[in-house]
Amino acid sequence: MTTTTTTSIAVLTRPDSADPTRPINDNATRPDSDIATLPDRIRRDPTAFRVLSGDRPTGPLHLGHYLGTLANRVRLQDAGVPVVVVIADYQVITDRSHPGPLRDRVRTLIAEYLAAGLDPDRTMIFAHSSVPALNQLMLPFLSLVTDAELHRNPTVKAESLAARRPLGGLLLTYPAHQAADILGTGGTVVPVGRDQLPHLELTRVIARRFNDRYGPVFDPPEALLTATPNLLGTDGAKMSKTRGNTIALGDTADRTAAIIRGAQTDSTRRITFEPATRPQVANLLSIIGELTGRDPRAVADDIGDGGAAELKRRAVEAVNETLAPLRIRRTELLAEPGYLDGVLLDGTARATALAGEVLDRVRRAMGMDYLG
Ligand code: ATP
Ligand code: MG
Repeated sequence: MTTTTTTSIAVLTRPDSADPTRPINDNATRPDSDIATLPDRIRRDPTAFRVLSGDRPTGPLHLGHYLGTLANRVRLQDAGVPVVVVIADYQVITDRSHPGPLRDRVRTLIAEYLAAGLDPDRTMIFAHSSVPALNQLMLPFLSLVTDAELHRNPTVKAESLAARRPLGGLLLTYPAHQAADILGTGGTVVPVGRDQLPHLELTRVIARRFNDRYGPVFDPPEALLTATPNLLGTDGAKMSKTRGNTIALGDTADRTAAIIRGAQTDSTRRITFEPATRPQVANLLSIIGELTGRDPRAVADDIGDGGAAELKRRAVEAVNETLAPLRIRRTELLAEPGYLDGVLLDGTARATALAGEVLDRVRRAMGMDYLG
């Protein structure tokens, strides 16, 4: 199955109250609209929505991105929803001192987006630092949140602990910075992994508070999760570039096989789908299920007493089969840096126009439109 041929939109789920990434503000959990019907509403009227989503250019994309958000971006694009993708370059320095080889990483990200099926004619791709209007929104947005709300954000806390350094001002405030990216480009649907839900709730709070204070300018956006909103890496923790526990989209078939064979499972031979008690086994079953369009429980039943070796063999097969065309296209695109830069230039021009219009509306609402 490839992402470019399907237009089904993944079912939305809400975090339960035991979830460590539960929303930071109870008021914010009261939906403005019935969130479970979002996929249907999108299908009925795709152009009434705009998708905003993005990634930090901290390294190559991995299977967690693909199954957690990227495949949904492509599905939404193919369903006719305008899509905006922000390469969140300023966010790289939230938890590290140096931005790293940004130019190469940004080009690689663009190649991976396009290889996964994003189409630059329908989807605008830009880097945050190239659209300064978005940063202007940070100031009024920061005035709408308290330091306690910022400090309560469980993802920020977890990222600060993982970075093993004192909580910096940019890390603390980056959910407001993300609110500026989403609201500043008119995003109403945000396909994200579960780690982003607290940030999205803050965005909704900011949108509502801004509207209450200055008049209706923003639509509070809605999160779109996939069935795998928190894909685990080879060590059993969230798959993430920073942890180095990833299956990268650009890895070779052999390397992918070696990584999956080395992934932690458990010692029970019979394969069952029990995410709470057997998270690593469930993770591999979910990967196979998502990539082959099957229920992970049915996959578990098929494997039965085949054990971890058979589970991993099927996971390797599903991942390599799905990613084979993407990898070929990725390599071709990486050989054309001029084309990739052109995609960025074009996306930046369109995002600049979009963010400029939103900033104008914000200035008018706040009475700052002295210059017309
Ligand atoms: P880093 O370690 O540098 O933070 P990352 O691997 O966490 O990188 P991000 O760029 O922070 O990736 O995340 C980009 C998007 O991908 C977000 O919407 C995030 O929720 C989603 N995502 C990242 N990792 C996963 C995962 N393991 N499962 C599901 N979604 C994920
Ligand atoms: Mg991250």
